[in-house]
Amino acid sequence: MSEQAREQAFTAGAATPATGAGEGARVDRTDFDVIIVGAGLSGIGVACQLQRDCPRKSVVILEARGAIGGTWDLFRYPGVRSDSDMHTLGYRFRPWRGEKAIADGPSILAYVEDTAREFGVDRNIRLRHKVQRACWSSADARWTLEVLGPEGEALTFTCNFLQMCSGYYAYDAGYMPGWPDMERFKGGIVHPQHWPADLDYAGKRVVVIGSGATAVTLVPAMAEKAAHVAMLQRSPTYIVSRPAKDAIANWLYAKLPERAAHVLARWKNILLQMYFYGLARRKPEAVKKGIIALAEAELGPGHDTRKHFTPRYNPWDQRVCLVPDGDLFKAIRAGKASIVTDEIERFTEAGLKLRSGEDVAADIIVTATGLVMRLMGGMALVVDGRSVDLGATMTYKGMMFSEVPNLASTFGYTNASWTLKADLTAEYVCRILNAMDRGGYAFCTPRNTDPAVTPDATPPLSSGYMQRAKDILPKQGSKRPWKLHQNYAKDMLALRFGAIDDGALTFTRRRPA
Ligand SMILES: Cc1cc2nc3c(=O)[nH]c(=O)nc-3n(C[C@H](O)[C@H](O)[C@H](O)COP(=O)(O)OP(=O)(O)OC[C@H]3O[C@@H](n4cnc5c(N)ncnc54)[C@H](O)[C@@H]3O)c2cc1C
Repeated sequence: MSEQAREQAFTAGAATPATGAGEGARVDRTDFDVIIVGAGLSGIGVACQLQRDCPRKSVVILEARGAIGGTWDLFRYPGVRSDSDMHTLGYRFRPWRGEKAIADGPSILAYVEDTAREFGVDRNIRLRHKVQRACWSSADARWTLEVLGPEGEALTFTCNFLQMCSGYYAYDAGYMPGWPDMERFKGGIVHPQHWPADLDYAGKRVVVIGSGATAVTLVPAMAEKAAHVAMLQRSPTYIVSRPAKDAIANWLYAKLPERAAHVLARWKNILLQMYFYGLARRKPEAVKKGIIALAEAELGPGHDTRKHFTPRYNPWDQRVCLVPDGDLFKAIRAGKASIVTDEIERFTEAGLKLRSGEDVAADIIVTATGLVMRLMGGMALVVDGRSVDLGATMTYKGMMFSEVPNLASTFGYTNASWTLKADLTAEYVCRILNAMDRGGYAFCTPRNTDPAVTPDATPPLSSGYMQRAKDILPKQGSKRPWKLHQNYAKDMLALRFGAIDDGALTFTRRRPA
């Protein structure tokens, strides 16, 4: 279904305004307690949690696109799927009922849409509303948002608290390094972020440039129909096979009430993720050997795993790629796919010329070369007349920014499922809003007054997209609450049970009328 058709279906289904938090649905209303920017997995999650924990707040979600779901609606390439399990990529407050824990994109999109409908937050979404600029006024304790409306008209919205759920990458275009002579190539060049719905690759020779999660997903999926798919990588990535179906989780769901099964399946996977990540950090050499030995076992003899499967970095310096049921290894074993580790010298009419001198013939070249990182959905941020350079701020508890009042931004884990941190962020924002109401405060601002805290500009991963963006990323501090843990258990204790008034979050009272 096209984005436009989905928009019509969605708008028809969400026609009835809700009450309470649903006041957001009245189309003429433009002033709210909370505005959420982005209706992806995170935006829908925050809206549901606000409805549960802050039912009296008026809330609206402004979404730039004509459909909800964000990532899971945008990416349409063959085989698109999660690379973490849905018991943790799904919400804490709504079980994942699918049989496969490593789920395909359309099922994840359906889960986001069903959640929005089930909780009634679909009625509070304004589609085709792109937020371009947000200006905070301390005198009014309000954000004023400049928004591009559905017809290209300039709209203004206001709110007390701004919750950014705009993801972390640019939606208009993916990262394209560019190579010499690209225009000479006679076949088709496709970027996974803009997959042509009618691309026919049956019986064709395909080259996928890249070695990240998207490349390892595309290669086995396209190999089902293509004549051959070659994955061309400059350097290898850690690749681990895992069953698509989580047998223990499915057993728990068959035997226990849904709620109990959900809690147990989720915690099993949280603890496993934490254990393997911790092991990789403590014993990188042993984990490296283990991952490569597993790849060797999956591929069988006759494959150069040292060349194609041994990265230059340690496990979890970059995200480890997961392949469900070893699908990539199976495609390679069957001769339907192969890996080439080399660099592109230039494009030719018939494919690619590599630095080694080898020619790779192709009918279609897919540039799975990654994303362009973009924070705050490209929105300009102004606080009391002063432009904010996010790269010069420090991140508070991984969700707010030093000297930026009443604004939180959802940024999930890079070493575990995104939603684990997204859910905790939503929970904490609800706690902050309720604490401000109880104390009669108008706004809160993270402020570092401790001279011992020093900013650290190291991004959480050494991946290309993070390195390219290191100047625009907010810094983390050398200690709490400015330091990122990337650890769910620690964050859960701090965000669910820790004191809101921690000395770094400063509260300002409402002015007397
Ligand atoms: C192909 C792919 C696979 C992934 N798989 C996994 C996985 O398996 N596990 C995992 O943990 N993570 C994964 N991720 C990371 C993934 O992005 C998150 O898991 C999650 O979907 C992000 O949700 P989000 O709602 O925060 O952001 P997004 O899904 O990016 O949604 C952001 C929304 O905000 C809207 N928006 C942006 N700017 C504006 C603006 N200025 N005004 C209005 N609206 C705006 C966008 O249109 C979009 O709808 C994957 C990412 C990609 C690209």
